[in-house]
Amino acid sequence: MPTTILVWFKNDLRLHDNETWYRACQQADWVIPLYVFDPRQFAHHKLGFPRSGSFRTQFLIESVTALQEKLMQAGSNLIVRFGLPEFIIPEICTENKVSHVFIGSEVASEEVSILNSLTRALGSKKVGVQTFDTSTLIHPNHLPFALANLPNQFTLFRKQVERNWIVQPLFEEPEIKSLPQLEPGTIPNLKELVLPAITPDLRSVITYKGGEAEAHQRLKEYIWDKDLLKVYKETRNELIGPDYSSKFSPALALGCISARSIYYEVKKYEFDRVSNESTYWLIFELLWRDYFRFASQKYGSRIFQRFGISNKHINWKHDLEKFNAWRLGKTGVDFVDANMKELLLTGFMSNRGRQNVASYLTKDLGIDWRWGAAWFESQLIDYDACSNWLNWAYVAGVGNDPRQDRYFNIESQVRKYDPDRLYMKLWIGKQEF
Ligand SMILES: Cc1cc2nc3c(=O)[nH]c(=O)nc-3n(C[C@H](O)[C@H](O)[C@H](O)COP(=O)(O)OP(=O)(O)OC[C@H]3O[C@@H](n4cnc5c(N)ncnc54)[C@H](O)[C@@H]3O)c2cc1C
Repeated sequence: MPTTILVWFKNDLRLHDNETWYRACQQADWVIPLYVFDPRQFAHHKLGFPRSGSFRTQFLIESVTALQEKLMQAGSNLIVRFGLPEFIIPEICTENKVSHVFIGSEVASEEVSILNSLTRALGSKKVGVQTFDTSTLIHPNHLPFALANLPNQFTLFRKQVERNWIVQPLFEEPEIKSLPQLEPGTIPNLKELVLPAITPDLRSVITYKGGEAEAHQRLKEYIWDKDLLKVYKETRNELIGPDYSSKFSPALALGCISARSIYYEVKKYEFDRVSNESTYWLIFELLWRDYFRFASQKYGSRIFQRFGISNKHINWKHDLEKFNAWRLGKTGVDFVDANMKELLLTGFMSNRGRQNVASYLTKDLGIDWRWGAAWFESQLIDYDACSNWLNWAYVAGVGNDPRQDRYFNIESQVRKYDPDRLYMKLWIGKQEF
């Protein structure tokens, strides 16, 4: 009897360097590629905004569409459903005599709990589940310590990892296997997901769409065509335009490209053109991303809790009026407002901006950091549970920052990073000065 494997795509929307996909195509006669739009992702937060807002959702729709088109070109398809995966997937498995479901591994607590429910439901039908670690640069099996011993500070983690680098080779795109007869379903649009339409903003710094080909094109453009990698460390704290930093984060968040693909491209650039502090620094930042993912796995649901992973008891305020003023870029503090407007109107904000607005909300206004993280979750097109919540906790002083008293003085930040006020002029206009 032919073997059928179902691949549940989630935040790994690519065919290249995707071990989940690679192994399924190697082992099965038939492969069912599936994406499920889960209504919980689009539900409203108690603060009144959707968990996944229009910008983030649009990037997701584009990425899923691109994956579907790529599969169709190869004679397969992406099956799309809307509903709860823990119910939908077992049904598809029964109808199509699926022997195994292959999935990219999860670390954030909500996703882990959905995966556990699914595994139980499939277990009762004698369908096996296998997960693969496809997200990080360093495979968890190659960490020089057990996860329970993950250092509480990034620097300690980095030094140990760097002492014995192992970056797994890339998985090539396998030959695509046929798909059984299945109703393909349709990819919903923003309107169907009850989300407002997007008005494109010419000031947006994200110049590419969702999808694997677009992500690789951005990689090529940033590293090779524009030759920007060699100056990354000097430009990464700037605020205007597509090129001060890589802008790989939206593609990484949905797995349209793997961290390893970026790593090997950097290595190639170092060999062919130049190897300097900047080329090292991009990898250094990818290690931050890894660190937050491993820390999320270690701390589980604590990363979302009020006192954070450091269990520091801070009496956070819950002032909705001030929070909404912050959220909509109406605090009266120009630099904060400019950044919050950029986020509101484009779904992106620079790392420098994120640090400042998060510090302002938590340290100047004393407002619960989880409210800020929830707004970022809704707005950011590069939203990633681990990077978002642990960066927020870090800035709020309840995470793994060895300096718990870190504070961003907005005036001195403006003097350093927007001395001619060009960024503020761009986002809040001259008349507001
Ligand atoms: C409060 C706050 C919330 C954040 N939320 C997110 C989020 O939801 N998703 C997200 O991807 N990043 C988040 N970041 C980290 C960082 O701001 C973004 O990764 C970065 O701005 C993305 O732009 P880039 O791709 O041009 O980054 P680059 O500077 O070009 O860096 C290259 C890559 O390294 C990784 N990286 C860089 N800085 C960090 C960091 N501090 N933490 C983790 N990974 C990093 C990203 O994958 C990024 O794409 C947050 C930072 C703060 C302070």
